[in-house]
Amino acid sequence: MLTWGLSRMDEKYVAEVRAKLTLPCKDHGQKGNKGGYGVITDPTTKKKMFYHRSVYMQHYVIPPENMIGKVIMHLCDNPRCIEPTHLQMGTHWDNTQDMMRKGRHSSH
Ligand SMILES: [Zn+2]
Repeated sequence: MLTWGLSRMDEKYVAEVRAKLTLPCKDHGQKGNKGGYGVITDPTTKKKMFYHRSVYMQHYVIPPENMIGKVIMHLCDNPRCIEPTHLQMGTHWDNTQDMMRKGRHSSH
């Protein structure tokens, strides 16, 4: 199954990206939340954030202001994974568009 966040990219691109995932998934080692995602407390803001999001930011040295409105997606479809090369940045706009197309978005 393709990650919903990738639905706007063409399948060839997804296949190419996945072919480059040479490293095995790295488990966050926590119990995880309902979805299986690891959660940590950000040392700066003291707010809870997804473990994979924090790992992505640190690995690619992305300032927090550049993360606003962005989501970090798993190319490997494994919510427990925190291997930086398996993570890709997307936008909430992508999600919204995707959800609306699938009819899961309730308009109000
Ligand atoms: Zn992975």
